[in-house]
Amino acid sequence: MVVGDIETGTDVVVIGSGPGGYTAAIRAAQEGKDVIIIEKEDIGGTCLNRGCIPAKALIHASKFHEDIQHWNEIGIKAECEHVNFDEIQEWKQDTVEKLNSGVKHILDREGVEVMNGEAKFEDEETLRVEEAHNAETVKFEKAIIATGSQPIEIPGLEFEKEKIISSKELLNLEEVPEEIVVVGGGYIGMEAVTKLAKFGCTVKVVEARERVLSNFQEDIVSRLKEMTPEYDDEIYTSTMAQKVNYEEDKAVLIAEQGDETLEISGDYVLVAAGRTAKPNLEKIGLENAGLEINEEGFLNVDEQMKTSKENILAIGDAIGQPMLAHKAYREGDVAGEIVSGKPAAFDNQYIPKAMYTDPEVGVAGMNPEEAEEEFDEVLIGEFPLEASGRALTTNKTNGFCRVIASGDKKLQGVQIVGPRASDTLAEATLALEMQAYLDDIANTIHAHPTFPEVLQEACKDALDKSVHI
Ligand code: FAD
Repeated sequence: MVVGDIETGTDVVVIGSGPGGYTAAIRAAQEGKDVIIIEKEDIGGTCLNRGCIPAKALIHASKFHEDIQHWNEIGIKAECEHVNFDEIQEWKQDTVEKLNSGVKHILDREGVEVMNGEAKFEDEETLRVEEAHNAETVKFEKAIIATGSQPIEIPGLEFEKEKIISSKELLNLEEVPEEIVVVGGGYIGMEAVTKLAKFGCTVKVVEARERVLSNFQEDIVSRLKEMTPEYDDEIYTSTMAQKVNYEEDKAVLIAEQGDETLEISGDYVLVAAGRTAKPNLEKIGLENAGLEINEEGFLNVDEQMKTSKENILAIGDAIGQPMLAHKAYREGDVAGEIVSGKPAAFDNQYIPKAMYTDPEVGVAGMNPEEAEEEFDEVLIGEFPLEASGRALTTNKTNGFCRVIASGDKKLQGVQIVGPRASDTLAEATLALEMQAYLDDIANTIHAHPTFPEVLQEACKDALDKSVHI
């Protein structure tokens, strides 16, 4: 029974408090709007609570023994007596909570009202918010849908079954499993492989496609695999996961590879087969607001983030690929400004992609094949990390930076495999977005020694002006 039933009015209501939703809410409030943000789970959404942040914290922790080995090599004699995974998890959770309270503090400071509960449209100006025994009706002028996504379930491997887990449960395991089967060789699966393998877990990857990381260019993936022996341990490609049987305390994945049936066992089966926005969208009563989900399972929007209803906007994972937090942030900025009557548009041409494997991978813009198709002449420059002063001083020399330019020397793409690739990617994306030429980067003084120098050096290589290789 619903005991409390209140009606509230607001200028702007935001459904979902992930990177997209909270950014939109804060920007609209900064522009003077009355804003309510509705969240059914945790403030900060997937990224902060069960995605980017906890995943990267655990990846950081998992590199401990390589660091210790290196210290020993350079004269700092140390050994790892014991890894207390409980404490690592506590530290990770503490990191999540610090960011979480930071977001809550900013929402509060900007006067955004946070409402807990599940939101559903009643019509195109009204939302119903339900939580336990309370319900509230919110009348709004503008709404922003930022309901995010959730892991895709594979028939036969449903998450409610024993020992079948998603990335969310993986991040909260109480101890490192001895062995695990990862279904899905995308970036979420391979980042999981990175940390688990480094913590000493045997990882077996099952991928339906011909190769893992099919969203990344083949030569990057093979270079990555050369550099990271653990990725090649047990990778089953062109293999379809079918179901799970149980033997003693193990889960046994039954998978088809051609005519063969494989039985692959682990303490858990992690299903990392991609993410979908559809289940969340299906629950918010879109039909009552006159909206519908497109064939790909997302909402269509224009460059102002408006759906087919002028007063209802949508952002983040809910509107399509790539499902990335930084895309959601930018769309949140645009949506927050549009609902405040400001001129804004999502006119970005480049959405960088970073992957926190070891070494990291960062890409933006065209790859060499795409450039060959588009331009008569293509210039490629490459710089190996072994030649970087910064890489040598930090003992992280695996990788390279490659730039791709059209014949007129305009930068068209950047690919980085190496330490801090995700950081160097920022300059690369800025350069692409600013329509930079190779000379612009080659002639910009980069602080020395730093990792971003590899971008400058790769540009010099493409111009045949390399000094350090
Ligand atoms: P979300 O963050 O998914 O937030 C949506 C929120 O809406 C949720 O909190 C949900 O509870 C709420 N909600 C849904 N329906 C309702 C409703 N009816 N009423 C109220 N609330 C509702 N991206 C990167 O860019 N870099 C990374 O390194 C990275 N790593 C990742 C690692 C993992 C393991 C995972 C799972 C994801 C990762 N991502 C990463 C992706 C990133 O987390 C998402 O792209 C991002 O969180 C999307 O933001 P969003 O605001 O669209 O939605």
